[in-house]
Amino acid sequence: ATPMSVMVGVGKAAEAGILIRDGEALQTSAKLDTIVLDKTGTITEGKPAVSGILCSDGQQEDSLLALAAGLEAGSEHPLAHAILDAARERSLTRARVTAFQAHNGLGVSARQGEQTLRLGNRRWLEEQGIAVNLDLSALTDAGATPLLLARDRQLLGAIGVADRIKPDSAEAIARLRQAGLKVVMITGDVAASAHAIARQAGVDEVMAEVLPADKADRVKALQAQGATVAMVGDGINDAPALAQADVGFAIGSGTDVAIESAGVTLMGGSLHGVADAIAISAATVRNIK
Ligand code: ADP
Ligand code: MG
Repeated sequence: ATPMSVMVGVGKAAEAGILIRDGEALQTSAKLDTIVLDKTGTITEGKPAVSGILCSDGQQEDSLLALAAGLEAGSEHPLAHAILDAARERSLTRARVTAFQAHNGLGVSARQGEQTLRLGNRRWLEEQGIAVNLDLSALTDAGATPLLLARDRQLLGAIGVADRIKPDSAEAIARLRQAGLKVVMITGDVAASAHAIARQAGVDEVMAEVLPADKADRVKALQAQGATVAMVGDGINDAPALAQADVGFAIGSGTDVAIESAGVTLMGGSLHGVADAIAISAATVRNIK
């Protein structure tokens, strides 16, 4: 590639709100065959809202929500905002808790007097010895993420938090697939919820229940099979996977850490930016051959 044509390509991309770090990122973008998309905030809006509450026997929705809001008051996770908003809408007083702890990719815990409260995913609660004897399919079939609430060993209920896919995600993903790319969705979310979103988005493959620390390993495994991989994400959690990928794309309101780890930064939140970046790169490389 001549430096001149690469400069032209990088400039053309910049006009479309696509910041390509260097010539290498541009040339590699033209060779991609696999795109890994983070679910939350990348395929979806990243603005989850409470969509339903399931109570264990003898429990009430409002008291569950008040406890959950007390737990999430110290968290910065998008799921926490959904819980806090719902409690506010119902004018509930947040439960007062101490010893708050965030467990990355699992949930949150805190103390209430002598008791331990936990809110998080099923696997984590079961690991803590809590039996999950609620049918969660009413929440997961609709693509909601069930957050399970427990006091010590007792399951109190589940709060469903749902995040809509961005209006143009399915169209952009269809474009990527038409360009011959394999599109994979990766998420820490449970399989049932992830598959409901995947169906709406039209991806080829789903990797669910992947811990934040393991996302980069999944990218590496694809590369070991011979794939040239792009990772698209927005969160702090995604930074190692963005760095591991052949090209990392930081999307939309991406965190500083994500942008630093990425070869391409998309100013807008749309996945069309990924398809545009690849098309511009391919056209640039084709012209210089
Ligand atoms: P994603 O890959 O979708 O960005 P994360 O890796 O951040 O998701 O979280 C994975 C899962 O861990 C969530 O779907 C949720 O079940 C649980 N979890 C993480 N943080 C929290 C929290 N603050 N409150 C409740 N559950 C949480
Ligand atoms: Mg995320």
